[in-house]
Amino acid sequence: MFPEKIMALSRRPLQTQPLALRARWVLPVSGSPLRDAAVNIFQGRIVAVGAVLPGALVEDLGDVAIVPGFVNAHTHLEFSDIRQPIGFQGIGMVEWLRLVIERRGESPASGRSPVEMGLDESFRFGVGTIGEIGQPGLRQDDYRQSSCDGVAFIELIAPRADRVAAALEIARQHLSAGLVGQWQPGLSPHAPYTVHPELLERAVRLSVEYRVPLAMHLAESREELEFLRDGSGPFRELLEARGAWDATAWPRGSRPLDVLRVLARADRAVVVHGNYLDAEEIAFVADHRENVAIVYCPRTHAWFGHERYPLEAMLSAGATVALGTDSRASSPDLSLLAEMRHIAREFPAMNRATILELGTLHGARALGREDEIGSLEPGKLAQLAVVDLPDGSVADPHELILDGDHPVVETRSI
Ligand SMILES: [Zn+2]
Repeated sequence: MFPEKIMALSRRPLQTQPLALRARWVLPVSGSPLRDAAVNIFQGRIVAVGAVLPGALVEDLGDVAIVPGFVNAHTHLEFSDIRQPIGFQGIGMVEWLRLVIERRGESPASGRSPVEMGLDESFRFGVGTIGEIGQPGLRQDDYRQSSCDGVAFIELIAPRADRVAAALEIARQHLSAGLVGQWQPGLSPHAPYTVHPELLERAVRLSVEYRVPLAMHLAESREELEFLRDGSGPFRELLEARGAWDATAWPRGSRPLDVLRVLARADRAVVVHGNYLDAEEIAFVADHRENVAIVYCPRTHAWFGHERYPLEAMLSAGATVALGTDSRASSPDLSLLAEMRHIAREFPAMNRATILELGTLHGARALGREDEIGSLEPGKLAQLAVVDLPDGSVADPHELILDGDHPVVETRSI
């Protein structure tokens, strides 16, 4: 547990008896669904799941399911004030990036910060923990005041060798500032087309030195594979137009596996998207599941009209596959439950319990928080989402939340 979190908990009035939250269903993720059951909480931690503990104060939440707080393993909250995704369904990555870069050049609207808006929205949607990629100079107060926690990755960009030193300075400043409220710092070398291999190598070393995670977009588009392999295509054109092309960066014939091999030496690495990883690369990620995970962003994937996501192949290889919304620049909102429901529609044969596991326990594992969150188990933090349930009974109660459209009615982070 992060020290700030311990302090936050200890400031609360001391709980003298367990609180038992009762519901029609409790879906612990780490075990079978429990009907008419309770989650017993004492001083911020889950102490028992199932029957109400003797002497507990009972709070009956009614016709709802209690599930672990969702983990949004990848987003960029700086875009949370965008009302609808940028561009159009099926837009190419490079065209979309041009529009995003244009928007970044605009002065921010007055009022609440987009990050603060995104954190509030996330919490309303049942998200307790976030893998957030922020810009250098991020406002620490936005994160400190949120009910969510997670990893605040700082974005690092240096496509040319002569820009690496400046990016590393940003990385060091972010890491030496330490925890941001309840948030652990992390580094995000952005993507192969914006990161010189020297920056990636040095970021990996910093990850080991400071014991912090890295997050990197990888194998997101076919154009990126072309860029790595041949140094040509729309990404090269984009870099040349911006004076950022460096012919000495990635050797011809490079592929995502070359990047994965470097990332696997980090303390922990989150591979964002991985839409076009091949079988050998998926096997590599699975073999390194101790410290390497993938994040699938289902509705963003659909926005760009990518080829079918290799989700089944990743899971059968044994990879950790967390879920993310990505930002509101490519997704309609920050609801991780909506992402899981999207998977249920796209992969109708997939086990519903597995889908919930991706959005909770796999996310916790990806961010290195598996000991604290991701399932309803004694000893873990009482970070819960409460989902309203439709009438009727089904063979598998996971269907009630994943195949329906009832909302999250409450998020608790006690
Ligand atoms: Zn992203």
